[in-house]
Amino acid sequence: MKKNYYLCTLMLAGGMFLFSGCASTETNSKGTKDTKEQIEITDAGKSEMIQESDYGYAYETDCQSNRPSYSTTVYTKEGRYETEGMDGIQGKQSGSYLQYFDYATGETVYVCGKSNCEHSSDSCNAYFKEENFPMGILWNYEGDLYTPMIEEEYIWICKISPDGAVREKICKVMRQYVEEKEDGDEISTRYYMPEMQIHRGYVYFTDYYMGCEEATLYRIKLETNAQVESLYEVSGKGTSIYRIKPYGKYVLFQMGKTKEDSNEIIDSIYAYHTESAEVSCVCQNSYKDFMVLEQNLYYIDSAYNIKRKNLTDGKEEIFYKAEKNSDKTISVRLFDYDKKIVYETKTVSEEKSTEQSVLDTTGKVCESRKEANDDILLAPYTMLADK
Ligand SMILES: [Zn+2]
Repeated sequence: MKKNYYLCTLMLAGGMFLFSGCASTETNSKGTKDTKEQIEITDAGKSEMIQESDYGYAYETDCQSNRPSYSTTVYTKEGRYETEGMDGIQGKQSGSYLQYFDYATGETVYVCGKSNCEHSSDSCNAYFKEENFPMGILWNYEGDLYTPMIEEEYIWICKISPDGAVREKICKVMRQYVEEKEDGDEISTRYYMPEMQIHRGYVYFTDYYMGCEEATLYRIKLETNAQVESLYEVSGKGTSIYRIKPYGKYVLFQMGKTKEDSNEIIDSIYAYHTESAEVSCVCQNSYKDFMVLEQNLYYIDSAYNIKRKNLTDGKEEIFYKAEKNSDKTISVRLFDYDKKIVYETKTVSEEKSTEQSVLDTTGKVCESRKEANDDILLAPYTMLADK
C-alpha cells in the first residue's frame, strides 16, 4: 500500500498546509506580509555579517549551492543521477529506479551493472523499494550517492556506490515521525520526511513537531555511530525551520513564526557558522525563497521583488523589481546558474506555466525562458553539464 508522505518543510502555521509526495518545497503559501511590524525574534537584530573569507565552494564536499530540499536529482561533472518513480508501469515493480544520464552520449541508463537484468524487480541494483526509500531523495558527496532510508521506524542515511552495486547504511538520523489523522470516517496515517542536506561531512536536518510549537536545526556526522547534535532551537506559535541551504562555512536556513495576534507568518533568514557554532539573523523579513551567491544574499520580498543584501557590509537594495501579477503566482524560487541569478515563477491562469528570468549581477535580464515543457528550463547546477 502506498504511504502518504509529508514534507516537514511545509508544516507551517500549525500544519495548515499539507502536501504529499515529493513535490518541490516551493509551494508553501503564506499570508501576505504588508505590514512593517516585526515580531520578536530572539537574537535577531545585531546580525553578525558573514565574513568574506568564509566563502568558497568545493565540488567534492559541499552541498550544491541553492539546491532545493527533497531533490531527486544530483548533478556531477559528467552526468546526472535521478530517481524515477515507476508506479503502475506494466512489467515494473512499483517503486523508483535510479537512472544516470550521461552528458557526453546523451544516453540514460539504469544504475545497475548486473548482466541480463531487466531492471524491473527488487533484484535490480537500481531499484528503490518504496517502503525503505519512499521519496527517491538524492545527494552526492565525495563521489558517492546518498539517500534517506527507512528501516524499523528509523530514518538512516544510506550510501550508494556510483555504479549502484553497493548500498551501505551509514548513520541513524532520527525516528520517523508518524501521525494518525481522522479523515472523515477513516483514520489516515501520515509519514513525515525531514528536510536534510549534506555538507562538508555532516547531514544538516530539521524536524517536524506536532502543532509547530518548536523547531530545531540538527546535524549528524556522516559516519557510523555518530550522534545527533542540536544546533539551534526556537519555540513559539507556528514555528518552523525550512530551506536549509549550506554555503561555505555557513548553513543558512529560514525560520518562520506566526504572530501571536493573527495567522500572519513572518520569516527570517539565519546563518549557522559551522566552526564557531554561532547563529545570526542575516535577514529579518524574507518571504518565500532565498539564495546566496558569493557575498550576497538574494531574497524575495512580499511584493515578489528580489532584494539583495551584501552579507559583508550589510547594505541592502532592491535588485529586481517584479512586474508580475502575484495573484496568479503559485510558487517562486531562486537559484544560481553560471554566476547568474535565476528567478523562477510558476503561475496559474488558464493553464499552468513556468517562467524563468536569468539576471546578471547588475539585475539586468539576460534571458527569459517560458515553457510548460521542463526541458528548456534551467535547474540548479545544470551548469555542471557545460564543464
Ligand atoms: Zn537492474
